[in-house]
Amino acid sequence: MKACILPSPAPIESNPLQFKDVPQPKPTGTQVLVRVNACGICRTDLHVIEGELAPRKSPIIPGHQVVGIIEAVGEGAKQHDIGTRVGIAWLHSTDGTCEYCRAGKENLCNDPTFTGWTVNGGYAEYALAEDSFVYPIADGFDDLKAAPLLCAGIIGFRALRLSTIERGGRLGLYGFGAAAHVAIQVAQHWGAEVYACTRDERHQKLALGLGAKWVGGSVSEPPVKLDSAIVFAPAGEIVPAALKALRKGGTLALGGIHMSTIPPLDYDLLYQERVVRSVANNTRQDGYDFLKVAAEIPVHISTEVFPLEKANKALNALKNDAIRGAAVLKIR
Ligand SMILES: [Zn+2]
Ligand SMILES: [Zn+2]
Repeated sequence: MKACILPSPAPIESNPLQFKDVPQPKPTGTQVLVRVNACGICRTDLHVIEGELAPRKSPIIPGHQVVGIIEAVGEGAKQHDIGTRVGIAWLHSTDGTCEYCRAGKENLCNDPTFTGWTVNGGYAEYALAEDSFVYPIADGFDDLKAAPLLCAGIIGFRALRLSTIERGGRLGLYGFGAAAHVAIQVAQHWGAEVYACTRDERHQKLALGLGAKWVGGSVSEPPVKLDSAIVFAPAGEIVPAALKALRKGGTLALGGIHMSTIPPLDYDLLYQERVVRSVANNTRQDGYDFLKVAAEIPVHISTEVFPLEKANKALNALKNDAIRGAAVLKIR
């Protein structure tokens, strides 16, 4: 099969992904084999490719927003029929037995695997998944629009939940890429007002087009105090600005898996019971709940589509803030 494979981490400017033929995987046990139609590109892929996330498997096929059709199943995979259209997300498997899994916090599992980091992902014509970790995809979304739902969408949704935003509340979104452009639609569906801070003018326009009350630069101060905020940009220097924008008792959720160093904070920014918390992965329940609300709204996904062999180009564009909405690889 054709795949884009990363021999070892390197700056994306050096175009490190190699487009080539690799053996097609075979499902065993509880695995399913998915014939990939589309794979979304996530900033986490960039962190894997550039080595900000230390390599866990090398070489690796990145990609964890995979949409395709189940073409074959292992002898123990009983949950989905061959021919079902499914999504594969970042959380590839958990041990199911650790204290976190038993407490319903499988996103914090002690022994998880991750698609496109610890096991091969979807920058390829075929990918393996665990049958209990794939998500059936509603008919309303075509393959290209469904792919960004699987990480940008689900993680954005979990970040919204952890931000504790409520109906009628004011929410700040810092960074307006793939995750934020979905999260704003869910937040507004819940009756919240959204204030978007992002350095890129195209992203500001996208936010306004999606109904943001106000847009400003990445550390601009919104005109009102916010109840909740989410930082999607991987830039630690945004954290003090976002805290400054919060009212007393407000919550700041950090949506990324990697962030540059957060500068020293004046305690005044945190005092008055403001909360800062990170968002780590997602539970399958987050995924089911998000995909349900995404279909109800239905969320509108802006995509920029690239062929598989142009993955390096797409990732360079992502690094330079040149993607409006979500970048997606069209495999078939
Ligand atoms: Zn576990
Ligand atoms: Zn992701």
